[in-house]
Amino acid sequence: MANKKIYDVVLLGAGSAGMFAAEKLSNKGLKMLVIDRGDEPSKRTDMNFGIGGAGTFSDGKLNLTCKIGGEPESFNRLPAEVEDYIKQVDDLFTSLGVKDGYSGSNGKDLEKLQRIANGAGIEFIFGRQRHIGTDRLHIIIDKFYKSLISKKVEFRKNTRIREIYKKDKIYSLKTDNETFFCKAVIAAPGRAGSYWLRQQANQLGISTSYGPIDVGVRVEFPAVLYSEIASIMYDAKFRLYSESYDDLVRTFCTNPNGFIVKESFDNFVLVNGHAKRDSKSENTNFALLSRVRLTDPVEDTTKYGRDIARLATTIGGGKPIIQRLSDFLGGRRSTWSRIAKSAIAPTLKDATPGDIAMAFPSRIVNNLDEGLTVLNKVIPGLQSKNTLLYAPEIKFYDTKYNVSKFMETSMENFFVAGDASGHSRGIVYAAVTGMFAADGVLKNFD
Ligand SMILES: Cc1cc2nc3c(=O)[nH]c(=O)nc-3n(C[C@H](O)[C@H](O)[C@H](O)COP(=O)(O)OP(=O)(O)OC[C@H]3O[C@@H](n4cnc5c(N)ncnc54)[C@H](O)[C@@H]3O)c2cc1C
Repeated sequence: MANKKIYDVVLLGAGSAGMFAAEKLSNKGLKMLVIDRGDEPSKRTDMNFGIGGAGTFSDGKLNLTCKIGGEPESFNRLPAEVEDYIKQVDDLFTSLGVKDGYSGSNGKDLEKLQRIANGAGIEFIFGRQRHIGTDRLHIIIDKFYKSLISKKVEFRKNTRIREIYKKDKIYSLKTDNETFFCKAVIAAPGRAGSYWLRQQANQLGISTSYGPIDVGVRVEFPAVLYSEIASIMYDAKFRLYSESYDDLVRTFCTNPNGFIVKESFDNFVLVNGHAKRDSKSENTNFALLSRVRLTDPVEDTTKYGRDIARLATTIGGGKPIIQRLSDFLGGRRSTWSRIAKSAIAPTLKDATPGDIAMAFPSRIVNNLDEGLTVLNKVIPGLQSKNTLLYAPEIKFYDTKYNVSKFMETSMENFFVAGDASGHSRGIVYAAVTGMFAADGVLKNFD
């Protein structure tokens, strides 16, 4: 061990959580290394992997409220503490050149929307937001990366950690051909790395529990139907409970005048959405998700979600499934000629017309159907022949770690942060948990 370089801390994953943790830990006299399996921002080709993380090619809708994207109590924090860190995240984006882009207006329009939502049995979660845009965010992330380099933060890109071990208080992080040693780890491999991290954590003896997953579709419809709401809150969050099963159904990641994209994983594809700031489509999209919680003795929501994703990918012939809402409700598959009868053009064409009900459990199909009926009351016209659905959209936040307020797990000096921790669902909360973990490292090394 004497000849081996031992870092004080290794940050595994340079997404939102990893980069904000690095920012907090920079210039603190620690021997620190940031490792990411992908390339630097300007050379990236993969949506999920690379410095900047999955957020780099997202459109940077920053939810600037502790009510969206996480729960302060899940890591024993008061809302006011989280709000304080959220402000630090927003200030950093501002310092990197992000200008304006705020939404979240109070006043009569907000009151009216709240009245309509409440009347329909929908909870409307209101909060301040900022929209950076897909066309700008990667430039900002590149600036962030360069500013960390100028602060002498050491990065190892294109370096994928395969295994993590611990011996005599020292962690070893192994790639295919080298090993890094450190006294503390902040593990933040994102949603795409959460399954792998769980295997490593369990192998180390860190216990995890299963959280719920959200399974559903991307809904795409004419942008004019949403423009009034967008002026009140760009990415309005609506939650309701389905009539038949009383399951939570919610909207997530709304992209006014946006685009739908395919995300490729090892064994399946998923859909997602984004919006640019300067280039607009004529469609708006959001995720409509039905929450699935499994209880003892079968709790593995990860496997459940992955099985649905694989089945949907089989039915789509390796591509996402696209279906007209009217075909979905009518119980028939879509074809391109039926889709052409819709007044909107799909923004994702690399999809296979099909029948989503062939891939999803009927309880989820039912929840989505009922959810759309209720949402039609706040977005009149949503439930029409012009609306398209894409599947599968699945949010894997399902592995939860028991953590301290500094995101330290049951194993000393092993911290988790970001979406892989099960405590964040978005750029801002991922950043905040990364900063909490950084504070935890500083406390332990004090
Ligand atoms: C298309 C799209 C649009 C989105 N839009 C928004 C939005 O508008 N607003 C919002 O708040 N959120 C959005 N999100 C979600 C947001 O991107 C994530 O919540 C956020 O990036 C989570 O940050 P993270 O640091 O936890 O993980 P990530 O950003 O996923 O970063 C994890 C990093 O870990 C690295 N990694 C993984 N495994 C390993 C390994 N074994 N070895 C080394 N490195 C590894 C990966 O390469 C990656 O860079 C969007 C996501 C997508 C895909």
